[in-house]
Amino acid sequence: MGHHLELVGRTAAEIAALVAPHVDRPFRARQVAGWIAERNAAGFAEMTDLPLALRADLAERFTITEPATLQVVPSLDGSMKYLLGLADGVAVECVAMREGAKATFCLSSQAGCAVGCTFCVTGALGAGRNLRPAEIVGQYRRLLRDLEPDVERVNLVFMGMGEPLLNTANLGPALAALMERVSPKRVTVSTAGILPGIRWLAGLERRPKLAISLNAPDQERRQQIMPITRRYPLADLMAAVRAFPLERGRRITFEYVLIRGFNDAAADAAAIARLIRGIPAKVNVIPLNEDAEHFPGLRRPEAEAVDLFAVTLRDAGLTVTVRWSRGADVAAACGQLRGRAGGFAPASTQSGR
Ligand code: SF4
Repeated sequence: MGHHLELVGRTAAEIAALVAPHVDRPFRARQVAGWIAERNAAGFAEMTDLPLALRADLAERFTITEPATLQVVPSLDGSMKYLLGLADGVAVECVAMREGAKATFCLSSQAGCAVGCTFCVTGALGAGRNLRPAEIVGQYRRLLRDLEPDVERVNLVFMGMGEPLLNTANLGPALAALMERVSPKRVTVSTAGILPGIRWLAGLERRPKLAISLNAPDQERRQQIMPITRRYPLADLMAAVRAFPLERGRRITFEYVLIRGFNDAAADAAAIARLIRGIPAKVNVIPLNEDAEHFPGLRRPEAEAVDLFAVTLRDAGLTVTVRWSRGADVAAACGQLRGRAGGFAPASTQSGR
């Protein structure tokens, strides 16, 4: 296995180029690429229009990595949380959220996270390893295979486990492969504000959308709940966001986890509005998912406080969504992804993205 070349996580053209020297006729390379990059084939055995001997030969040279599905947990609201096992025994989570024929897949970029946001279970578990392109794209393949043909349109959000912009070496190839299938305008990369990563993203020719996990209106409080922001100060972050090239009609998303008594005052909402004034933006307000085990001191605000916060932002002219996290009953909500099995545990947490 190990020395075989991996074919998942590459573009169709890359797959065809790798396979070309090993097929009898030129069109076979495109066939193989189509099977993997368009039809989600999980192995050469599925490629029934290829000669048996060729399939056997290709299987000797190449790998089509498939994560093992360790657990699928449906949530009451219709979202599905998947626990996937990787080759080295590491487990990652991803979530499919359905709305009729539309689905949003929340993908992980790392197994664990070193960023350490205090309101996030993944962060509480600490750093894991970077996922490789095949392991990132593998999540998409797994979810799509299970949901087709009911789902016609897919959005991808990198809001699962990990900080995607601390894994740009693998995220880049994964995005290239994914954006062959999902338009860049339906792909969102969410970051805690890793400045070199934002600049990298800004320089991509085909750019996904950018979401910033903001969570506080000032550097001091942001640093308290997002330790990594010491290295990437808010002022620099906002400058990088303002410089981020936006295609017509696109907006920057700001995620804001509301924590009772910490960042949920109407004055904080007004400060947020000032901070992002002039940026084509929408704000996702996410009332904290409490977790007595990992951050017992943090509470979700009362509904009235959430409403007042949202109204204050709207009055300032901002587009606001309040996201009572989906999948909270199975710990599939943002910041609850921990890469381990767990059934219908009561809502445990929530996070910043
Ligand atoms: S919210 Fe995101 S960046 Fe922060 S610790 Fe959790 S996974 Fe990492």
